Amino acid sequence: MIRERAYPVEPWHVRETRLDMDVLAQSESVFALSNGHVGLRGNLDEGEPHGLPGTYLNSFYELRPLPYAEAGFGFPESGQTVVNVTNGKLLRLLVDDEPLDVRYGELISHERVLDLRAGTLHRELHWRSPAGRDVKVRSTRLVSFTQRAVAAIQYEVEALDGPLRLIVQSELVANETLPPQSKDPRVAAVLESPLQAEEELTTDDGGLLIHRTKVSGLRVAAAMAHDVEAPERTTIESEGYEDWVRTTIGCVLKPGQTLRVVKYLTYGWSSRRSLPALRDQVGAALAAARLDGWDGLRREQREYLDEFWDAADVRVEGDPEVQQAVRFGLFHVLQAGARAERRPIAAKGLTGPGYDGHAFWDTEMFVLPVLTYTQPGAVRDALHWRYSTLTQAQERARTLNLAGAAFPWRTIEGPESSAYWPAGTAAFHIAADVADALRRYVLVTGDRALEEEIGLELLVETARLWRSLGHHDRTGRFHIDGVTGPDEYTAVKNDNVYTNLMAQRNLLTAADCAMRHRDQAQDLGVTEEEAAAWRDAANAMHVPYDPEFGVHGQVEGFTRLQEWDFEHTPPEKYPLLLHYPYFDLYRKQVVKQADLVLAMHWRGDAFSGPEKMRNFNYYERRTVRDSSLSACTQAVMAAEVGYTELAHRYLREAALMDLHDLNENTRDGVHMASLAGAWIALVAGFGGLRDHDGTLSFSPRLPSRLGRLEFALQWRGMRLRVDVRPHQTTYSLRNGGPDTVVELRHHGEPIRITAAQPVTLPVPPAHPSGPQPEQPPGRAPLLHLPENMS
Ligand code: BGC
Repeated sequence: MIRERAYPVEPWHVRETRLDMDVLAQSESVFALSNGHVGLRGNLDEGEPHGLPGTYLNSFYELRPLPYAEAGFGFPESGQTVVNVTNGKLLRLLVDDEPLDVRYGELISHERVLDLRAGTLHRELHWRSPAGRDVKVRSTRLVSFTQRAVAAIQYEVEALDGPLRLIVQSELVANETLPPQSKDPRVAAVLESPLQAEEELTTDDGGLLIHRTKVSGLRVAAAMAHDVEAPERTTIESEGYEDWVRTTIGCVLKPGQTLRVVKYLTYGWSSRRSLPALRDQVGAALAAARLDGWDGLRREQREYLDEFWDAADVRVEGDPEVQQAVRFGLFHVLQAGARAERRPIAAKGLTGPGYDGHAFWDTEMFVLPVLTYTQPGAVRDALHWRYSTLTQAQERARTLNLAGAAFPWRTIEGPESSAYWPAGTAAFHIAADVADALRRYVLVTGDRALEEEIGLELLVETARLWRSLGHHDRTGRFHIDGVTGPDEYTAVKNDNVYTNLMAQRNLLTAADCAMRHRDQAQDLGVTEEEAAAWRDAANAMHVPYDPEFGVHGQVEGFTRLQEWDFEHTPPEKYPLLLHYPYFDLYRKQVVKQADLVLAMHWRGDAFSGPEKMRNFNYYERRTVRDSSLSACTQAVMAAEVGYTELAHRYLREAALMDLHDLNENTRDGVHMASLAGAWIALVAGFGGLRDHDGTLSFSPRLPSRLGRLEFALQWRGMRLRVDVRPHQTTYSLRNGGPDTVVELRHHGEPIRITAAQPVTLPVPPAHPSGPQPEQPPGRAPLLHLPENMS
């Protein structure tokens, strides 16, 4: 955990003012740059020291056998693991005769700044070599949002005394040695030298490397070129070998003189394209990058982000840490999805190898809701990616003797890559999560073309899955048995409320959609009877409820299970999954992450106010938050039931997950769902945004320390701005025509907004909420509300 505040609180920057070797790997994740296609961890330019070197390309993976002690029918046999591809970030510097290495000599100052508006990582250091020679190095790195294959680094060395002989060695290196990994299942498998050399080539000012993976047969090309400016004569030459290419730049500087190198870096990969085609592709991308030049790339980056922030920024008054964190979170969410272009958005984005680079339901239920309201084009692409895996999901369903499509719990390219059934395929709810992401996207954008093109089929195939996975009992109730809901400590159980309610909506949405697109539905073989069967199942969906306690069991029978002995569970035994056998977790009332509480967020229309309050109190006492996907949901529901201060603490936990390394595994990559969760906690929590029944509704209410919350949402091509103050909320509309009217609900009351006139409405006083429930001992929200916030 980063206990001291590592990054000063600033609204638009994440700044590190000294180099702390103990948290180097964490900072590499925090400072990772990506556009959803290429991802560079924030490794130091000179490569060493490093926590975890990392360069990733979306969907570039190697296959590895999934080991089983005992095989079973339907177990996936091979898993996909993200590959650390050719490292192009390297720029080593020799100062006279000493290599710049911050572990030697004297590091007089060192600063790194992630600039959320410029989209760059800037580093400045003043280093004195062991021989007493002083240099200042300034490097600025970007991964372009506008040219998706391109990254660039401006590297400047200023001689502070001299004359100084400087040698810059700029490299591409494949098959870097990676540090050994722990046994934590959340970490990635280490692949030994996964890349086989195919071609290396050098030019005067750069070169390229082409490699191929051994088993998955994917080919990757990385190329670099340099622009060099120096006041004096420079030499430049390149050499290449199987796994590395190097361009060496030499010059002698007088005191005060600066050497400036711009390194352009491009990547391409393919499973199909030939080696010459890929070689040309990265060459062309280099030419395009040089056409813009460093200044052009920076300008485009800035313009792209200006546009994004104009539509997506969230302003928070009263908690500057959250202000910084929510922008940091949005920035990473954007980085994960912006140019993913029909490729997955992984749980860590492209910031680290955690979870083997897999995408989970995190995408559809945490990341996509945020992008739907802020960058909907990225959601369209992500839905296309899911659709591109439909055939594999259908095959998986057939293997399991089911109809429709069973989407994988974790994957890169489509096949199930989870080797553990109870916290893997059994989490069938992913099908409904995909359907809900689609529903929300169509609702918010009005993009019926996408609904027709891919949406209907996704809905039909997921509805078919539910109809075949569930069954009507003798009395007609519909049950979905033997599944795992979001809480991975309650596995393979009957009638998980979250799963059932999400499946219910999936079935009804599919039936409605089939009515809207009758011909296309017919082409998919949907008959009137089939759609009626979906509605019957949905209407008869069983939702477990325990009348004795007046709460919903998150699965059938949950409330009668043995209680977990929290009193005798010491703090060092968390996360429980690393210290207790699963069988014990499964048979007791201990909740890893919001499950029933999550159902109350996304299917809030299925619960009454008093039920929400009782359920929240019940589950709060049993939820340990061993997953980072929990705090934001607890924030949303705590806000709804009236525990606004508790909600604020959960918001802080979700938002600061990576800036404070709260789960002590930020080294493996940032927690994209939790970062998205900061936005969710603010907008759905204190803004009260819901989109259950096709209309937007808000129930804004601020916690005592926040003086203002302002956010923008995209709605049908318009921009809706919501400005929440303690006693009133103002809704305004941009980009709408003069006659456009948007109908919303404010604390349950229908209202109409036009572009002409903002509407300001009072925030009704809160109902008294009773005493706040306790969490299990030691499991209170990790961060407090500092006293002196304002
Ligand atoms: C959580 C899952 C999540 C996965 C990836 C697990 O710890 O329990 O809900 O999908 O991490 O973030």
